[in-house]
Amino acid sequence: MRKKIVAGNWKMNNTLQEGLALTFRIIDLLKENPADHVKVIIAPPFTSLHPICELINKEGVIHLGAQDCHQEKSGAFTGEVSSDMLFDLGVKYVIIGHSERRQYFNETDALVLAKAEAALDVGLRPIMCFGETLEQRNSGKHLDAVKSRLENSLLKINPTEIAHVVIAYEPVWAIGTGENATPQQAQEMHAFIRTLVAEKFGKDVANDISILYGGSCNAKNANDIFSQPDIDGGLIGGASLKAEEFVAIVKAVYSI
Ligand code: PEP
Repeated sequence: MRKKIVAGNWKMNNTLQEGLALTFRIIDLLKENPADHVKVIIAPPFTSLHPICELINKEGVIHLGAQDCHQEKSGAFTGEVSSDMLFDLGVKYVIIGHSERRQYFNETDALVLAKAEAALDVGLRPIMCFGETLEQRNSGKHLDAVKSRLENSLLKINPTEIAHVVIAYEPVWAIGTGENATPQQAQEMHAFIRTLVAEKFGKDVANDISILYGGSCNAKNANDIFSQPDIDGGLIGGASLKAEEFVAIVKAVYSI
């Protein structure tokens, strides 16, 4: 049975004190409303990972992710953080290929593949993000666009490692815009991605892999989106910065 997952991507938000307070509140709310069969992940900025990791290790309940990693193990890459360093800290997941990284930092499919492989090499689970632009959606090329991204990265992952990957479908036009994909649009893409995974890695892998939806998800639309058969949870941006809203999304997934 594939895992239900809700992951919060904090992006470049929250000082250490703000991040600790938010983590405390999320943990408290989840203790009051246990959501045992949903894996809850938060991905704070690098600067808060260590103290938040200590808090999570003490309290349990949620898991720690990072928002990116470098593709090399170590070396002269000023300002970068390796997958080894994250794993050493206690991080379990890492978001790879977020559309903001592709857009503002020119990340290509080849780089996304290299980063995912670097994460898998050390035992981190990559949350690999894919989505189409508004132009691609409006011209009916959304399936082809996502297929091409998958073929150049996810579908090249070593078959012995693919079970450790989490996929996130994040239409670029829905991220941070307040305009979410309809449940039908998201379901169509999730089923399509699962078919491509099945063709490459087999039906069992495809059935077991978690495919998250991301893009203006909130407590109001969560239930409709997550009740689709191929949607296994969400990657949540803005709404993950408010503990009550984030936990309401977790509960929406839990209740399905
Ligand atoms: C994201 O950043 O991955 C995301 C889905 O953002 P938002 O929920 O704010 O659209």
